[in-house]
Amino acid sequence: MHSTASDGALSPSELVAMAVDASVEYMALTDHDTLAGLAEAQQAASEAGLTLIPGVELTCLWNRRVLHLLGLGIDPDYPGWKDYEARLAELRITRAEKIAHKLVARGVPENILALASAQAGDGQIGRPHFARALLAAGVVSSENEAFDRYLGQGKAGDVKAEWPDIVEAIDIIRKSGGFSVLAHPTKYSLTFSRLRLLVAELAKSGIDGIEIGCPNVSRDQIGLLLRIADTLNLKISSGSDFHNPEMTWTRLGRFPAVESDRHLIHDFIRH
Ligand code: AMP
Ligand code: MN
Repeated sequence: MHSTASDGALSPSELVAMAVDASVEYMALTDHDTLAGLAEAQQAASEAGLTLIPGVELTCLWNRRVLHLLGLGIDPDYPGWKDYEARLAELRITRAEKIAHKLVARGVPENILALASAQAGDGQIGRPHFARALLAAGVVSSENEAFDRYLGQGKAGDVKAEWPDIVEAIDIIRKSGGFSVLAHPTKYSLTFSRLRLLVAELAKSGIDGIEIGCPNVSRDQIGLLLRIADTLNLKISSGSDFHNPEMTWTRLGRFPAVESDRHLIHDFIRH
């Protein structure tokens, strides 16, 4: 799940309250590139008797390709996180300035950076904040349209950044006591044979698992992903990628569990 610490709509404690209402027993908060929401989430979870799995979703590069790597069960107090988070925050701010520049060149209002920053508040700024800003400015009539026209793959606002290499991301997750899990493997526009190669390479580099269940994944894809995980002896995980109660494609606590009891990653995390 994502909170206002990155691009989610709810604060960490609001998320915990919603999770409790939905009878969720285990909840992983995995904000993009920041651990800033974890302390509040942990406090709220302890009070509510819910098990919080401290997490993060790290943006990283593998052969020039942007991948998202989840760290689950990490120790937020591991000293290495401070510098790593600061580096990511700087990358995001620099990228936001470049995105704004590109969008303004396309005729978007000049104050788009200020609008997107206001959407981000104290959270790590990302493309979803630009989508909300474009909607608020009346440039588009939905956030989806903002991605289709301005922010999605290959569009002006899809600005590349020098994210850390995935090997570094794997390393810090491991050193801080967590498991590294490739997020939403079906969302990288890869054929299954290329995905198999990618995951095999990542397994050599030391990832612990892959997400099998994620929004919009089909039953067939789940089968193929399970096979990849089995072949490479990787653990599996499932995530709702919950950002916003208004999103209709994923619901907190209503995301189907993967139909396999093998290697489920939360069994390996010390609660
Ligand atoms: P960022 O980390 O700033 O590059 O933003 C990535 C986030 O933007 C993802 O985690 C998604 O939540 C969202 N996103 C990316 N592509 C799309 C898209 N085509 N439509 C809607 N949301 C998207
Ligand atoms: Mn992601």
